[in-house]
Amino acid sequence: MTEKLYYADSHLKTFMARVLSCDRADRGWAVILDRTAFFPEGGGQPADTGFLGGVRVLDVRECGEDILHYTDGPLEIGSPVFGELDWDKRFRRMQNHSGEHLVSGLVYRLYGFSNVGFHMGADCVTVDFDGELDREALDKIETLANIAVGENLPVKAYFPSPSALKRLKYRSKLELAEHVRIVKIKGYDVCACCAPHVSRTGEIGAIKLLEHERHRGGVRISMLCGLDALEDYRKRYASTAEISALLSAKHHEVAAAVRRVLDDLGALKLGLAEARKQLVLAKAALLPETDGNLCLFEPQLDTDSLRELVTLGMERCGGVCAGFTGVECDWKYVIGSRHADLRKAAKNINRALNGRGGGRPEMIQGAVSCSKKDIEEYFNGKAIF
Ligand SMILES: [Zn+2]
Repeated sequence: MTEKLYYADSHLKTFMARVLSCDRADRGWAVILDRTAFFPEGGGQPADTGFLGGVRVLDVRECGEDILHYTDGPLEIGSPVFGELDWDKRFRRMQNHSGEHLVSGLVYRLYGFSNVGFHMGADCVTVDFDGELDREALDKIETLANIAVGENLPVKAYFPSPSALKRLKYRSKLELAEHVRIVKIKGYDVCACCAPHVSRTGEIGAIKLLEHERHRGGVRISMLCGLDALEDYRKRYASTAEISALLSAKHHEVAAAVRRVLDDLGALKLGLAEARKQLVLAKAALLPETDGNLCLFEPQLDTDSLRELVTLGMERCGGVCAGFTGVECDWKYVIGSRHADLRKAAKNINRALNGRGGGRPEMIQGAVSCSKKDIEEYFNGKAIF
């Protein structure tokens, strides 16, 4: 049986222990100690990582009464070892987890909704409630939660006696009858939880409720606390500052400034489309009438405009109208014809001009890797379609 030091002291960063066993595991070794401060995965909180006697602790799991430490190297059975947690990571998790209890307690008290899902991801924490909450409600909860942080209230984690537990009203996801660990935030929340928590609410730091979305008849909220919230704020601030400088707008007015830029862009796109249409019509009007093929090089045109020009050119020739855009040896083509079956001809064209592409009998599109001279010789020469 491993003594669980994290229950007695959630702030224990280093400890001494004795190695009881060390066996080969799927990935590395599985080590059991007589005592440990490494918290195994549980209550929605991921397992701790760190070092044990110079080897890395990659994962920690509960196995009956024992705690298994999965390490990247073996440890000598019977020897004393020095353990050290990745404390920054663990402390941030405690900040987020205790913050979540505070928020869940407030949601339950104010709206009667239960926390039905809790996940600590790499980027943020998500909490699911079995009822809907809008932004206004979330802002209210967020403010009250931050006031509770300022009150620096004690966070007490303990195992009540079975009789005391019976009398206790507490939030719980599981129906457990014994060995229930209670985490109590005075005046705000009482909840069954096996994870390590901060000792006072002041340690949580800022609590920020982020995005919310409808989820299984309720709501899923993303949130961050403490140092993670600060880092997130820093990134958002840097991003807002950059947009603000680019658009010469005050920080709180960047959304309106971006909307104006998008409106301007939309108007420009419409104007550009109209100008392109006029350009295609003007170019088409200059095309000669011929019984043979028309071969057009239009490096300035995009493929949509080229397709429109070829469609108009098809009416002016008896053969095919072949339009090209791009640069030497890297041409995109659109070829159209009123009479020929171009789907059949595509193979020959692609073979002759080192290209690929296809389409409908009346129009094909693709790309060729050959010179302008090769293309001109092919379409202006004896090629029959
Ligand atoms: Zn919890």
